Amino acid sequence: MPELAYLNGKIMPIEEARVPIEDRGYQFADAVYEYFASYKGKLFAVKEHLDRLEKSLRALEFPPISRELLRDAVLGTFQQAGIDRAGVYLQISRGVAPRNHAFPNGAKPQIVITVRQVPDTSREYLEKGIAAITVTDIRWGRCDIKTVQLLPNVLAKQQALSAGVQDAIFVSPEGIVREGTSSNLFIAIGGRLKTHPLTPHILPGITRAVLLDICRKINVHVEEVFFDNNTMLAAEEVFITGTVTEVLSVCRIDGRTIGAGKPGPMAARLRKELEACAGAHL
Ligand code: PMP
Repeated sequence: MPELAYLNGKIMPIEEARVPIEDRGYQFADAVYEYFASYKGKLFAVKEHLDRLEKSLRALEFPPISRELLRDAVLGTFQQAGIDRAGVYLQISRGVAPRNHAFPNGAKPQIVITVRQVPDTSREYLEKGIAAITVTDIRWGRCDIKTVQLLPNVLAKQQALSAGVQDAIFVSPEGIVREGTSSNLFIAIGGRLKTHPLTPHILPGITRAVLLDICRKINVHVEEVFFDNNTMLAAEEVFITGTVTEVLSVCRIDGRTIGAGKPGPMAARLRKELEACAGAHL
């Protein structure tokens, strides 16, 4: 099946899509994005992703863009690619204009989409969990806006890989556990969960929101509260959540074993529930 790009209304092979060098996404990271995934040929949580995208666009004071246009672009490119397990990346920049910090007059937002096959999560990570390091959260104060300004996330991920582990967890200078480099984070203690509340310091993950709904339905108690690094290290389970990650156990952090040192029952249960929920959308 072809991996496709959409560029301002036209669909083409990814290799053929080009953006001008004065695109503000390229020069200023003046762009927002979303990442949708499909299960068995159906995109999951499209409404929730479009709602979050609209919030990001409004937060950066982009001109209004028709929701129908964006929805049709995403669904149309996805359907044309015909990939059952696809990742659909949508990026909207403020437009193309001579380099100048101020918003350009009359620039037209540039809409880019790519549709690619999503690689399966490694069996080893699902069975044994992953290891992570903590890194100081040096990101800006509006991590709730999904902008393409991801350099701290890129550097943290690379630092993790260089340290021989799979991911990094952002911890504030005061010791508050925030989230992963591309995921939200939960801890389990005594059959109850804790996750960071929705503040400008984390991204309001769609998977996080779906899991909170699931937990309400299956009577798993979740507290949206701040917790520190020591609380995380002492938890029975730590897991990260995201559109592609789904639910993934973190079994070693900064060289310390978490709980039993292997994926626990809570993560396994929620992973199953999430898959069933994605299935129910088919
Ligand atoms: N936090 C960050 C920093 C992320 O990049 C992501 C992935 N987009 C998430 C959380 C998880 O969000 P979602 O569940 O919507 O994929």
